[in-house]
Amino acid sequence: MNINYDKNNGLVPAIIQDATTNTVLMLGYMNEEALQKTVETKLVTFFSRTKQRLWTKGEESGNHLKLVDIKLDCDSDTLLIKVNPNGPTCHKGTDTCWNENNSQDYGFLSKLEDIISERKQTASNDTSYVASLFAKGINKIAQKVGEEAVEVVIEAKDNNDELFLNESADLLFHYLILLQAKGFIFNDVMSILQERHVM
Ligand code: AMP
Ligand code: ZN
Ligand code: ZN
Ligand code: ZN
Repeated sequence: MNINYDKNNGLVPAIIQDATTNTVLMLGYMNEEALQKTVETKLVTFFSRTKQRLWTKGEESGNHLKLVDIKLDCDSDTLLIKVNPNGPTCHKGTDTCWNENNSQDYGFLSKLEDIISERKQTASNDTSYVASLFAKGINKIAQKVGEEAVEVVIEAKDNNDELFLNESADLLFHYLILLQAKGFIFNDVMSILQERHVM
């Protein structure tokens, strides 16, 4: 890589981006040695202008940035580094240095998850169906998922696409509720699928 390091200080800015969500996590500076160490160890290492030494992000906190890919911009003076972050990237405890959340957006499915999460916190004497399910507990919710799965199986054998799709929606919806009842979100499952895919 033919990098155009700043002539005055021998540094190049490195934009750190989450390889999965594309969220920009932080900005740091690298010299040649820092970049070399990053490539060798597969852990992002900067040249800290404050500390005036090489600084492997996460060296104290354990919140490392695992290297996925390095790209050089159009005029070779800025790096884009794709990473898998281990924990929050900012030392203030937030996901990014701009106080943003770094969670994958699954569009409408994520909105549904937010609504389900709100209902989970709602009192059970509410009129909400989802809140009433949470009040009944995990066993009841799991049973409901089982019932919807059986309905999907039944409709899969028929030729009624509308019924099949409706039961599929029921299954997915109740499965999202079960995940939250167990303290998980859809992304936890997606992460496992992605890890399997890489191998
Ligand atoms: P860490 O590298 O996560 O072990 O953090 C060590 C120290 O580096 C912190 O106490 C901060 O001074 C600094 N630091 C950590 N993360 C960041 C960041 N994202 N941006 C700027 N400084 C940071
Ligand atoms: Zn440039
Ligand atoms: Zn920060
Ligand atoms: Zn159903």
